[in-house]
Parts: sequence; C-alpha cells; structure tokens
Amino acid sequence: MNRVDGRTALISGGARGIGAAVAQCLIQGGARVILGDVLEAEGRRTAEALTAAGGQAVYLRLDVTRETDWQAAVEFARSRFGGLDILVNNAGIALGAGTEELTLEDWRRIEAVNVDGVFLGTKTCLTLLREGAQRWAGGSAIVNLSSIYGLVGSEGVSAYCMTKGAVRLYTKSTALEFARRGYRVRVNSVHPGHIETDMGRRGLSRIIERGQAKDEAGARKVMYALYPLGRMGKPEEVANAIAFLASDDASFITGSELAVDGGYTAQ
Ligand code: NAD
Repeated sequence: MNRVDGRTALISGGARGIGAAVAQCLIQGGARVILGDVLEAEGRRTAEALTAAGGQAVYLRLDVTRETDWQAAVEFARSRFGGLDILVNNAGIALGAGTEELTLEDWRRIEAVNVDGVFLGTKTCLTLLREGAQRWAGGSAIVNLSSIYGLVGSEGVSAYCMTKGAVRLYTKSTALEFARRGYRVRVNSVHPGHIETDMGRRGLSRIIERGQAKDEAGARKVMYALYPLGRMGKPEEVANAIAFLASDDASFITGSELAVDGGYTAQ
C-alpha cells in the first residue's frame, strides 16, 4: 500500500514538521526526496538524518515565493534524478491576527507564501510532472496542503483562512485543467486539523494569550475539546494521507479534498 517505488518527490517546506514527516513516509514507500526550504541548517540536518537511516534525501534552498528558485529546483530534479513524479506543496506560514489587527503587508506576505508558492510550484514543475506521468499507472501527483481553515472559517486567523480556501479551489481547478488536457497529473488537497508541529503548537499559545487557559496543560484541554477524537494530530498521520494521494492507490482520485482532522469538520 502507498508504494511510490522509484519516484522522485519534491517537498516544499520539507525541513521540519509535516514536510519532514512526508519525506520520511515517501522514502519508506520507495521514493527519493528533495527537501526544498528556506531553513538551510534544519533542511540539511533533516536530509542527513533521512540519508543516515538508509533513504535518498537532498536539501535544496527553495523560497517558494521566488520563481527563479522553483526553476532551479526543476533543473536540480532533472539533472540529479532524471525527472519529477510527486510535488508536495507543503510550505506555509500562519498568522494569528484578525482583520482589525492585520496590515496589508501581513496580508500580502501570507498570500505570497501560501498561495503564490503553490501556484509557482504547480506551474514550474508541470512539464517535468507531465513527463513523469507517463512512467506510472496512476500518473504523477501534486498534493497541496490546505487546512481545516480552508474548509471552515475561524476567528482571529482570517488571512490564513483566505489562503487555505484559495488553495482548496486552486487544487480543484488545476485537477480539472490537467485531467481534461490528458496530462495524467492528479491534484488533490489535504486539510489537517491542529498537528503537533511548531505551527500547530502556536495554536496552544494563542489559547493562553486569549486567556482561555493558564498553561500548556490547560490549553491542551481546550484544544482537545474541539476535536471529536479528543487530541491533536501527529505529522505522520498527515504524511500517510499525502503518501496515499501520491501513490497509484489513488489513481482515480483527482480534485478531491481529504480532511485529516480527527472529525473537526464533520461536526
Ligand atoms: P512548520 O512551520 O512546522 O513548517 C513549515 C515549513 O515551511 C518550515 O520548514 C518553513 O521553513 C517552511 N517555509 C515557510 N516559508 C517558506 C518559504 N517561503 N519557502 C520555503 N519554505 C518555507 O509547519 P507545519 O505544521 O509543518 O505546516 C506544513 C503545512 O501544513 C503548511 O502549509 C501549513 O499551513 C499546513 N497545516 C498545518 C497545520 C498544523 O496544525 N501544523 C494544520 C493545517 C495545515
């Protein structure tokens, strides 16, 4: 299940968190991975750890807001691994601010990373992914990281919701475009709830800042109560869903949205 033997995957934001877990999961499934991130030291450390454990992982500096960085990543994938089969548009930033506190600069910054980054990744990698699609029964795959906040709104994170809602419908539109044009490049989105990463844990800090809890233990109680499964998710749990969508097991799935949220959006 979820085998991706012989495939090359590019994971933006792969230095840590969900991206690093995706790298590990895809390596276990038989792929080699390129970790594209702005965090150089962390990216190199993650790649070294994956390589030491027997995988093929390389760190590459990639700022997803820069088209030239994406072009360099595509060249790297071609020259180092002979192509590209999986793109995981995972890099993202969060901003805990409501509309009254947000500046236009904040709005544009989060939009640049979370939305422009997905557009540039998709557009720049498409030619290689189309070539890769000919090699596999289920074609090649793009998996975009949206969020529960791309499915429902939330107070105090309006700019983040704007970006993740955009990713959701951009995913569906590109899925249709590529399918109708016969490219065999499937595109799907994943919608995690709060996950135990640097970003997810900032949600706990915000609960304390808002005075809903005194300490982390109290904040966890508040957070867990939001989730029918009664806890936050783990990076591996999101990675498993992404690996499934990237594999031939999902060969008839495109334009879909997969919530990995402990039941949050089922309520
Ligand atoms: P994280 O902050 O732990 O990791 C994000 C990674 O993206 C970091 O390595 C960071 O350096 C990288 N990044 C940021 N800006 C970048 C840029 N311009 N170019 C390249 N890389 C950049 O966050 P995470 O929790 O691992 O989140 C990964 C994705 O999952 C994000 O898109 C996030 O919005 C989404 N998500 C996370 C959660 C959660 O609770 N953790 C929930 C829903 C969705």
